[in-house]
Amino acid sequence: MKTLDRLLRPRSVAIVGASADTAKLTGRPLAYLEKYGFTGEIYPVNPRYEGIGGHRCYPEIAALPQPPDAAIVLVGGAKVTDAVRQLAAIGTHAAIVLASGFGESGPDGRARQDELKRAAGTMRILGPNTIGLVNVSERIVLSASNALITDEIVEGNIALVSQSGGILGSLLSRAQAAGIGFSKLIATGNECDLEVADFIDHLVDDAATKIIALYLEGLRNPKAFQAAVMRAHAAGKPVVAFKVGRSESGARSVVSHTGALAGSDAAYDALFRQFGVIRAERYSDLLDIPLALSCCRTLKGRRLAIITSTGGSASLLADAAGMAGLETPPPDQVTAAKLKALKIEGATLDRNPIDVTLAGVKSDTFRTILGLVTASPSYDAVAVVLGSSALREPETAGAPLRERAAASDKPVVGFVSPDAPYLLRTLNLAGVPTFAAPESCVAALAALRRAGETTRIDCADRSSGATVTGDMNLSLRPGVLNEADSKRLFAHFGIPVTREIVAKTPAKAEAIAKTFAGNVVIKALSCEVLHKSEAGGVAVNVAPENAARVCAQIAERFVKATQHKPEGFLVQELVIGGVELILGFHHDAQLGPVILLGMGGIAAELYHDTSLRLVPVSRHDALEMINELKTSALLNGFRGSPIADSDALANAIFAFSNMVEAIGGELQEAEINPLFVLPRGRGVVAADGVVIVRAGRSGPVERVSEEVIL
Ligand code: ADP
Ligand code: MG
Repeated sequence: MKTLDRLLRPRSVAIVGASADTAKLTGRPLAYLEKYGFTGEIYPVNPRYEGIGGHRCYPEIAALPQPPDAAIVLVGGAKVTDAVRQLAAIGTHAAIVLASGFGESGPDGRARQDELKRAAGTMRILGPNTIGLVNVSERIVLSASNALITDEIVEGNIALVSQSGGILGSLLSRAQAAGIGFSKLIATGNECDLEVADFIDHLVDDAATKIIALYLEGLRNPKAFQAAVMRAHAAGKPVVAFKVGRSESGARSVVSHTGALAGSDAAYDALFRQFGVIRAERYSDLLDIPLALSCCRTLKGRRLAIITSTGGSASLLADAAGMAGLETPPPDQVTAAKLKALKIEGATLDRNPIDVTLAGVKSDTFRTILGLVTASPSYDAVAVVLGSSALREPETAGAPLRERAAASDKPVVGFVSPDAPYLLRTLNLAGVPTFAAPESCVAALAALRRAGETTRIDCADRSSGATVTGDMNLSLRPGVLNEADSKRLFAHFGIPVTREIVAKTPAKAEAIAKTFAGNVVIKALSCEVLHKSEAGGVAVNVAPENAARVCAQIAERFVKATQHKPEGFLVQELVIGGVELILGFHHDAQLGPVILLGMGGIAAELYHDTSLRLVPVSRHDALEMINELKTSALLNGFRGSPIADSDALANAIFAFSNMVEAIGGELQEAEINPLFVLPRGRGVVAADGVVIVRAGRSGPVERVSEEVIL
C-alpha cells in the first residue's frame, strides 16, 4: 500500500490519550470513529481506563497488540514527543499530532518540533498543530473537530487540504449547511513532515476526488507543490487555492499561526497563474468555485443566459456577470420564436435576462423554457434566478431546474435571491450548483471558464539550457557591475543590447562618437552609482562633434553629485521610437527567483503596473506577462502608435529567465531599465543594465576600464 493510503484508510487506529468523556476533545476521535462506522481495529491508550466504549484500553503504547496503521496523539506538553518516539518504536505507520506549541510558537517551539521529527524517525507525521483528517468517501474520521458533531457528512467529489484546522472546521460546517459534499478533508497544520504537496499528489490518484481545494498560509516546499499541481492538471483535476496573507497584517498573522514563512502575495499570484491553479479571491470562493466545478462541466465560452421571474435580482446577476467579463447576449431568433410561441403574458423573451414572469414559472412551462434555453447555440451557460416565489413553492421551479441541469452538458447554475437555505441545499445536493449571492455565482462561472481554457503548464519549454561559460567569469566578479559589463552578460544570454564602446577620455569618446551614424548617447560609466541620470551622468541625443564637451560636463556634474569619478564614458547608439519597459528579477523569500516585467518610466511604480512569474519562465508565460500589463495597449498600437515587437520581447524575457536560472544563487540583482521594445519586426534592445553579484565568488576581479583622466 502506498504511504498515504495507510494514513487515510487505516485498518487499525491507536488513540493515545483517549478519554471516555465525549464532551472533551480527547473523547471525540473515538466517538467519531464509531459514529461514522469505522470497521477496523480501535486501540485506545490510557492507563486510567480498562476500556472505553466497549474497546479494550491499553495502559501504554508498548502494550498494543500490533503496530497500528495510524495513531492519533491527543496527549499534550512534554508527553507528545515521548508518545511519538514509542509509536515509531513499535512500527506505527503514521501519527496525527494535535498538540500545538511547536514551530508556530517561536525558536523554542521550533526546537521542540525538530525533536518531534527526530523522534518519529521513518514514521510519517501529520501535524503537529492539526485537527486531523476525514476520509468522507470511506467514512473514516481521524479528527477531533467540533464541526463533525453534525449528523451526517455530505459526500462529494471535492477534497479540501487546509493548513489550518480551524478553517477546515469552518469550511466543513458551511459546506454541510449548503449541501456541498467532500471526498476528503485534511488539515496539515505545521507540516513537520507531510505537507500540502504530499496530499495533492495522493488525491490525484484518489478516484473519489475530482476537485482539489486548498487553504494555504505558506508553502514550505514550492517545488514539490509545483510538481503535484502539474500532476493534478495532467489528470484533469482542477486545483483551487485560497491564500491568506495578502496584506502585511495578514501576512504577519500567518507567520505566527503555523510558523510558515510569508512570501509576497504577488509571487503567489504568479505561481498560481503559471501552474494553472485557480485562485479563490474571497474566502467564500473557496467553496463556491469547487461547487461549480463539482458538476464536472467546463464553460467553453463567455455567453451566459439569465432566466428569471424577477427583474431586480436578474439585473444584479447581469451586472456582476458583466463586471467579470461574461456576456449576456439576447437569444437567437429561432430560440426567441419558440419561447414566444409559449404565449406567456407579460414575459420578455427576446432579451437577456430572459424574464419569464411568474406566469412562466409553472412546472411544465418552466421545463420547456429551460430546455429551449439550455439547448440554444447562443449560450455557453445558463443561470436561473430563483425569486421570492420559490419560498412558497420551492419545487415549482426547483424540479424542472434539477431535471434540465442534469440533461444539459452546459453548466447550469442557480442564484437564490431570497434567504432560502433549504432551497439552496436541496439544489446543491441534487447537483445544480446554487449560490446565495450574485458575485458568488459569477465568480464560480468565471472559474469554470478558466478551467475550460486549455492552460499550458508544460515545463518542457521553460529552459534553454544556457550556461555560464568561462569568459563570463570576467563579468561575474562580486559586487555591482557597471552598465557595460552588465550588458555584456545580458548579451551572452541572447538579449540584444545597444551598440556601445567604452572610452577612457573625452577626446577618445568624441573620436568614437564620430564612427557612429548620427547622434549618440553618452553616459558616465560607474559601478558605484546606480542611477546615472539622477547624478547628471546621462546625455541623450548628442551630436558627435559635441561629444568631448558633453563628456567633460557629465564628469563634472557626476563628481559633484556623487563624489565618485566615472570609470569612463560609454558612447552608445541612440535608440529611437520604442516603448520603454523594465525587465528585472528578485528573490522571493519563499518562492525563490521571480521575474518582473513592467512599463518603464513612472507607470510601474505609480500604478503598480508590473507582472511577475517564477523562474523558469516559458515563452508562453512570457507572452502572458506582457498581456497582463494594464498598459499593454501601449504595445498594441494604442491611438495609432506602431504595434510593438511582442515576440521579441517574449524572447528577451525567456532569455533573461534563463540567465537567472543559469547563474543561480550568485546573482543577487539584475535589471534592464529601459528595455526598448521597437515596432514589430525590429526587435528589442537593452539600453541600460545593472547586475549585482553576491560576494563569495572566486574569480579575477577586473575592471573593464581604467579610471578616467579628466
Ligand atoms: P539610469 O542609470 O539613470 O537609469 P539610463 O541609462 O537608464 O540611466 O538612462 C536614463 C534614460 O535615458 C533612460 O530611461 C532612457 O529614457 C534614456 N536613454 C538611455 N539610453 C538610451 C539610448 N541608448 N537611447 C535612447 N534613450 C536612452
Ligand atoms: Mg536606467
